[in-house]
Amino acid sequence: MNNDIDRLKSGILGFIIGDVMGVPLEFKDRKHFKENKVIDMLEYGSHNMPKGSWSDDSSMVIATMKSIIDNNGNIDYIDIMNNFMKWAENGEFTPNDKTFGIGRTTLNALKCYRYRNEFKEYENPINCGQKDFRDNGNGSLMRILPISFYCYYKKLNDDEIYDLVRNISSLTHSHQLSILGCFIYTLFIINLLKENNKEYSYKEIRNYNYNKYFDLDSINYYKRLLDNDISKLDIDNISSLGFVVDTLEAVIWSFMNSNNYDESIINAINLGNDSDTIGALVGGLSGIYYENLNKEWSNNILRKDYIEDLCFKYINCLEIKTDK
Ligand SMILES: [Mg+2]
Repeated sequence: MNNDIDRLKSGILGFIIGDVMGVPLEFKDRKHFKENKVIDMLEYGSHNMPKGSWSDDSSMVIATMKSIIDNNGNIDYIDIMNNFMKWAENGEFTPNDKTFGIGRTTLNALKCYRYRNEFKEYENPINCGQKDFRDNGNGSLMRILPISFYCYYKKLNDDEIYDLVRNISSLTHSHQLSILGCFIYTLFIINLLKENNKEYSYKEIRNYNYNKYFDLDSINYYKRLLDNDISKLDIDNISSLGFVVDTLEAVIWSFMNSNNYDESIINAINLGNDSDTIGALVGGLSGIYYENLNKEWSNNILRKDYIEDLCFKYINCLEIKTDK
């Protein structure tokens, strides 16, 4: 139990630190960092937020965890979507009651949900996910981490993992590429929790047979990540834009090329562009794997006690035995 709570807390806090570190740098391009490498937690910058502020990535992770806690370890898609609405419209699950930087695809899905509710056309929030190829930003990948923990601690089998990841992604992003990105990241997290060996985890996701759930076209988009060792590529071959495939590549590249938690985050945020999401997703992996988070960075996180309490409640609710 102690081990479980420590690893979950380290994964979630590691994720939020990565987000916080990236927030002041978001949208800056790579060239800027080549001359001004960032090695510490900054403040203000791109979104003019005080030090320790986390963004949409962490808010949606927290909103998801809160729903699962409130439902005693069960998944209620309506309740999760309602929490996303509370975040978007009222600034809940934020460090200072301010919502900023909602992605276009997420916004369209939430609008669709609100419209259907207003006109009582509501069927299932999963149908609100946007399906176009252009809707393959990293907006569902960036909030999948609590679900990855859920799959591991609830001991879900492959079919159950696929169903859950597909449905959770589809609340906002229902194109196969987005779902596959969430699925690969989840498998990476599950393998890290199983063996705590990053080479083993990467090998497992490369050996996995995705054909069972995904079409070849989608799998081929992840070819560079799955057929070869992405960590061997030069930084100039790694994009850090918001396309889900680029993001996952940048995340695995930053993580595999690190020797400790700090280094992984520094690798990630200095890629530039979507630095908060890449930082956050790397922080989730690194938090679990290295566990030794940077204390100074961690202490700067706003509402840290609230997040720690949430982690404690989350692991407790995942350990409740429920009938499937
Ligand atoms: Mg963000």
